[in-house]
Amino acid sequence: MEFRDLKKQYQVLREDMDQAILRAVASGAYIMGPQVKELEKQLAEYVGVKHCLTCANGTDALTLALKAWGIGPGDAVFVPDFTFFSSAEVVPLEGAEPVFVDVCEDTFNIDAADLDRAVQAVLSEGRLRPRVVVTVDLFGLPADYQAVRAIADKYGLLILEDGAQGFGGSIAAKRACSFGDIATTSFFPAKPVGCYGDGGAVFTDNDEWAALIDSYRVHGKGQFKYDNVRIGMNSRLDTVQAAVLQVKLKAFAEYELDAINAAAAKYTERLKDIVATPVIPAGFRSSWAQYTIKLQDSAQRDALQAALKAEGIPSMVYYPKPMHLQTAFSSLSFRAEPQEKSRNLNLCPVATSLCSRVLSLPLHPYLTDEQIDTVCTAIRKFLK
Ligand SMILES: *Cc1c(COP(=O)(O)O)cnc(C)c1O
Repeated sequence: MEFRDLKKQYQVLREDMDQAILRAVASGAYIMGPQVKELEKQLAEYVGVKHCLTCANGTDALTLALKAWGIGPGDAVFVPDFTFFSSAEVVPLEGAEPVFVDVCEDTFNIDAADLDRAVQAVLSEGRLRPRVVVTVDLFGLPADYQAVRAIADKYGLLILEDGAQGFGGSIAAKRACSFGDIATTSFFPAKPVGCYGDGGAVFTDNDEWAALIDSYRVHGKGQFKYDNVRIGMNSRLDTVQAAVLQVKLKAFAEYELDAINAAAAKYTERLKDIVATPVIPAGFRSSWAQYTIKLQDSAQRDALQAALKAEGIPSMVYYPKPMHLQTAFSSLSFRAEPQEKSRNLNLCPVATSLCSRVLSLPLHPYLTDEQIDTVCTAIRKFLK
């Protein structure tokens, strides 16, 4: 069994995919070919925002947003403690400081009440200016934007939606990557919509920020390519990857998103009486980047993972370490308390606890009922 079966997806999409790739290769327009602009239009329409700018990966997409906002030294950027490293990594790269915020036990997403506490702590210390909150749509579920927007408005924070895992999710009729003032996504192969390499995109309704991001992604270009008006990056999406993504986006919108939701619902149906299954609040829809259950403690989690492995069932721990305990942030992150005290387990206790108890199960749109049964039977056997 595969954790996310991309080879099976290719077999299903093969005819269209081979044609799209060969057309891109034969065209000779390898950088910024027509497929890139077409894809950007399709992505913007799907998400429901004015501008989509593709780039080299989801990490660059976050960096481009921070650059457009001029985030730098002296700025505080609030980031959930339970996420992939990139969400916070981009902050010190711009000279700003990440401030870690705890998450909600049930949704895994940023806790608006703890965001309020963290902003207050930064303000009372007085060293940094609160500027941005990065909301991560973790495992495919949009963050609680109603609650986060209220705190952001209270303190004048910009919302940067890290939708690397969230593309395709929604709250009521509004799609993920439209909730932030700027939103980003990743097309890393295993994400909800992935290409055959690295890729990413930035979304916004704001014309000025879109123009800045368009400049930053091509060496800070001005009126033309060899007119460079700011220090930028080389961060474009390859034409071949855009062609791949056009085929993938069509399948995703037509049936993959429904299929993965159906598979997740089957897991929940068969597991909810014996283990803590994912919580999707009313009105929310997940794109199921991961299906993550919670065990009692790390011993039980690790033993279950070993038991599944023995039966040939892959599973993953997303994520084993909270951001505030990452070595890379040991000297960088904001400390409301003295250094030693703040590095204890009481900073972001929910995120820290989740890291020891979560386990993500195999999930993708092509997972069969039989495979779901195999996984659920193995979990039930272990927990009994
Ligand atoms: C994957 C991921 C990223 C980074 O995307 P890349 O395309 O790998 O650079 C950023 N944030 C989150 C939450 C992710 O899961």
